[in-house]
Amino acid sequence: MQPIQHIAVLTSGGDAPGMNTALFAIVKIAQQQGIKVSGVRKGFEGLIDNDLIPLDYKSLQQSMHLGGTVLKTARSERFRTETGRQQALSTIEHNNVDALIVIGGDGSFRGCLWLSHITNIPYIGIPGTIDNDIAGTDYTLGFDTAVNTSMQCIDNIRDTAESHNRVFIIEVMGRDSGYIGTYAGLTSGADSILIPENDKDIDDLLNKIRDYHSEHAFIVVVSEGDEIGVEHVCEKIAAVNSNIDLRITKLGHLQRGGNPSAADRMLAIRLGVHSVKALCAGETAIMVGILNNAVANTPMQDVVKQHVISDELQGLLSVFCR
Ligand code: ATP
Repeated sequence: MQPIQHIAVLTSGGDAPGMNTALFAIVKIAQQQGIKVSGVRKGFEGLIDNDLIPLDYKSLQQSMHLGGTVLKTARSERFRTETGRQQALSTIEHNNVDALIVIGGDGSFRGCLWLSHITNIPYIGIPGTIDNDIAGTDYTLGFDTAVNTSMQCIDNIRDTAESHNRVFIIEVMGRDSGYIGTYAGLTSGADSILIPENDKDIDDLLNKIRDYHSEHAFIVVVSEGDEIGVEHVCEKIAAVNSNIDLRITKLGHLQRGGNPSAADRMLAIRLGVHSVKALCAGETAIMVGILNNAVANTPMQDVVKQHVISDELQGLLSVFCR
């Protein structure tokens, strides 16, 4: 096996708090191993356009605590084409890159699998998405920060809801996954939490709110991927209890940004360092993650599946939302 001398790293898909911390950790350990690291700007777009920059530890130290990604990120339609991936391969060869680290979500990892059809270059994925929707890791970069942001917003909304005895229906992010909804809803004491993984939760909500008499706040958290949607939830509530003051709030993109939490920074440091060590040990086509609080390698083809909500979490939802 040839020793790794030049790693290219990119951030891809949606930005997530912790991506900058991971870059900082990757460059730190790589420097200690005498490995050069280049940053690819704008995800796979930069790989197609030969947009690489040298990464410098001192400047990453100044941005390691910031949300977003200093490398920028993108959703690249061109990389979905054979021509785009061939151009990406030319960039890899032209710059003598001998390993890739991709920080992104399941879509980005699908992109890696496609690239591996045309090159044997070693690659490793680091799960970076606020949605926590990737199998093979208990947590993804950005999830903890997004949950804390959502929880604080719901706490703030509760002040108003409590003062006016209102019912608030609050939409949180998560794409097709109910992880943010579950965590943000449970930690903010929501009365009802609707997630895509449960199609009976709407019945529990309607049963609960039928007897509501506007004597306190009532908080409903709805994941954006839930099959019903906040407007329709509002209509259903009004149909069973017309005597309530109903409001909808969509938290939207304010959940995505912000400085990473300590938990996300630690996760990024652990996975960043582990990814470089794994490449040096000859690993490829894996995602590095955390399982039962230990770093774990999972074959890439196994991680492009949804991270399921465990029975234990589903049990907690029935304790608090019935
Ligand atoms: P997030 O979960 O934050 O949205 P993601 O990595 O899942 O992150 P996507 O937009 O799904 O975000 O994917 C990122 C990029 O990965 C896409 O823009 C595309 O360039 C590449 N990609 C995704 N799926 C494929 C595929 N099937 N073939 C080739 N490339 C793909």
